[in-house]
Amino acid sequence: MARLVMKFGGTSVATIERIRNVAAHVRREVEAGYEVAVVVSAMSGKTNELVGWVQECHKLYDPREYDAVVASGEQVTSGLLALTLQQMGLAARSWQGWQIPILTSDAHGSARIESIDPARLNAGFARGEVAVIAGFQGMHEATGRLTTLGRGGSDTSAVAVAAAIGAERCDIYTDVDGVYTTDPRIVPKARKLEKVSFEEMLEMASLGSKVLQVRSVEIAMVHKVRTFVRSSFDDPADPRPGTLICEEEEIVEQQVVTGIAFSKDEAQITLRRVADKPGVAAAIFGPLADSNINVDMIIQVVSGQAGSGAPATTDMTFTVQAADYERAMDLLRKLKSEIAYEAVEGATDVVKISAIGVGMRSHAGVAALAFRALAEKGVNIRAITTSEIKFSVLIDKDHTELAVRTLHSLYGLDKAA
Ligand code: ADP
Ligand code: ASP
Ligand code: MG
Repeated sequence: MARLVMKFGGTSVATIERIRNVAAHVRREVEAGYEVAVVVSAMSGKTNELVGWVQECHKLYDPREYDAVVASGEQVTSGLLALTLQQMGLAARSWQGWQIPILTSDAHGSARIESIDPARLNAGFARGEVAVIAGFQGMHEATGRLTTLGRGGSDTSAVAVAAAIGAERCDIYTDVDGVYTTDPRIVPKARKLEKVSFEEMLEMASLGSKVLQVRSVEIAMVHKVRTFVRSSFDDPADPRPGTLICEEEEIVEQQVVTGIAFSKDEAQITLRRVADKPGVAAAIFGPLADSNINVDMIIQVVSGQAGSGAPATTDMTFTVQAADYERAMDLLRKLKSEIAYEAVEGATDVVKISAIGVGMRSHAGVAALAFRALAEKGVNIRAITTSEIKFSVLIDKDHTELAVRTLHSLYGLDKAA
């Protein structure tokens, strides 16, 4: 029998009524003849609440206990959905990560799935049961401790389960009806994409489009899992297919730019008047890397000429994730005499806006158009990075909507009025 994985996010399981609606979607697929594994998130808001409680208990918390607490939200919804399905007359049981088991690394709070043994799930299918799996969680084998996969991790649970059980498809049901050219909650003119390539989806997700967790796209790409993003609010009797994440070759009409992403999760740091000599970049970025602080955009500007006895200096600007900002500033202050800079400045009121499209490979000047359009709107660009299929600009947070909308129109992504 063909198999299917159906994943339902937090808004889709937010109340018992919505869980009943989810169950109706599941019943439709069971009646169509599929063996179904369902992956559920915690009820919306639950994970945030649990994280808040952990932080309230202990600021420098033990990440193993963080996982023990935050994994509980998914335990609740998996049980509730299994009960609802049983109530409808379908055979179903809940599965927690460790029961399957879904084995992960020991990076608590952002663990990576290492393996999923399908044997117990297979036995359940043979008994005619729907498997209702708690998303977001797994277990580290050597320690036997519960782990979680990072925020948004239920997407990854779903795609990984689909790969492990050889599912024909993985349907990610959420509160929008597909992947859009940009977040439809910010740009009402955003257009739904029928298909999007793995590579573009990977960039969109890593550059801030939280509709799918990055890791889920990686797994879908590597294991060739046919993954759809679709709406759980569609009529269970007449659902629409949503957006397919697929190989580039499957997409006939390719735009130069496919989507615009933005991330408010950024912070900017500038070191003023650093001595301009060999080894200075290593002196700055080596210690940051050693402390597991990821640096993204980097720009270096000569700030003082050598001559008349004074050494040449340079200003070094770079970005880190907002969550790492305090740690990075702390570290740099401690290294002031070693790096030999004059002052350190930081800003957290910044946003990174990115345009993504495989068409950029074969088109020159795509980013230059954006720089001009943003300048015309009075948006100042603090930093720029480009790579093969995307470019990003760092700007003031206040200009987020203006900049996203400007680029969205510029690249012809607005839907017809
Ligand atoms: P779930 O709880 O179902 O996992 P998420 O909140 O994680 O849902 O993801 C869905 C949200 O992603 C949407 O409500 C939307 O605001 C946001 N989003 C951001 N970028 C995009 C995009 N390009 N296309 C669709 N949704 C997007
Ligand atoms: N409940 C978890 C979160 O909010 C995992 C998920 O929903 O994907 O991050
Ligand atoms: Mg999500």
